[in-house]
Amino acid sequence: MTLIKNAEVYKPEYAGTKDVLILGGKIAAVDDNIHVEMNGFTDVMEIDGRGKKLVPGFIDSHVHILGGGGEGGFSTRTPEATLTGLTTAGVTTVVGCLGTDGVARDMVSLLAKARGLEEEGITSFIYTGSYRLPARTITGEIMKDIMVVDKIIGIGEIAVSDHRSSQPTFEEFVRAVSDARVGGMLSGKSGIINIHLGDGKRKIDLIKRALAETEIPVQQFLPTHVNRNPELFEECVSYAKTGGFIDFTGSDDPDFWEETEGEVRFSKGLKRLLQEGVNQDNFTLSSDGQGSMPIFNKQKEYVGIGIGKSSCLIKALKECVFNEDIPLETALRAVTSNPAKILKLRTKGKIEKGMDADICLLDENLDVHTVIARGRVMVEGKKPLVYGMFENKN
Ligand code: ZN
Repeated sequence: MTLIKNAEVYKPEYAGTKDVLILGGKIAAVDDNIHVEMNGFTDVMEIDGRGKKLVPGFIDSHVHILGGGGEGGFSTRTPEATLTGLTTAGVTTVVGCLGTDGVARDMVSLLAKARGLEEEGITSFIYTGSYRLPARTITGEIMKDIMVVDKIIGIGEIAVSDHRSSQPTFEEFVRAVSDARVGGMLSGKSGIINIHLGDGKRKIDLIKRALAETEIPVQQFLPTHVNRNPELFEECVSYAKTGGFIDFTGSDDPDFWEETEGEVRFSKGLKRLLQEGVNQDNFTLSSDGQGSMPIFNKQKEYVGIGIGKSSCLIKALKECVFNEDIPLETALRAVTSNPAKILKLRTKGKIEKGMDADICLLDENLDVHTVIARGRVMVEGKKPLVYGMFENKN
């Protein structure tokens, strides 16, 4: 039992200064002045929330938890995600995916990695398949994977408009989407299709054609990397205005990527969406964590490979608040209530009675100070309290 006193609560909607009581991994109450009398039967751990903003634990909906990359040869395969790499960034729920490589990495390994992170204390889900269609699955079928494997909530990331994609035909694409949709319906999951958008000139043409020529609704698609260049972003703003969901990819060094690749940083992109009147439920932000990021200098020469990190999420939120004057409660939606709603993670993304006790406390600079995952304190004073099995505690 844990009681957080006098924190400024963002549900993500601003709720004022409140106490939050955690019981058995769930949020038991959010109220003024909660008092617990246990007559000594059990200890109540109190956390002083004064000066802190209490927000839902972040949902990072696109992470290569098993590692990714490899496009520059075997030595460029990226390492697996670590527990504290996620928790110190405020992430309490992660959605894992494969990437370009669905051969040397496969779905069983991805599922095992997701289960490992769950055992270590956070919540995990995965997408079935990789960049390519037809998808490589666990059971042999997309629909069956979603229906029988608890952790599989959809398919992805399927690559389109990219030289690394399998160049799926329209028929292959809509069949995969329909399999995911029906599998999701039959199992009460989102069955969403997470779509990697490359920088090819076809942009989101396949999605637009599927919407024009089939009965599949727009809510079935979650295109990601929508901000990778200005032209693609413009197309995706229009798409969002018609009710489509869009996922921004955060960046560890947004100045660099803005300058070299024309990437639209989240804060500026979100400002634009708000000006355009896009539905505030329809945008998300993910890290592409552990994905490889080939780095080129100003002369467009290859200089090395970086790795995506979940820490880009809070950096992006801070830019929204401090540079673009976007309310914290609006920016927060991108990593809390919106991905929870879009991915149908019903106990996630909100500070409300009955929800999982996934909570971050942010300090006055909006840095992640304390992180609680399903009721357990994982990070305190910006330092991990809980480490992954093979993590170096020094
Ligand atoms: Zn991708």
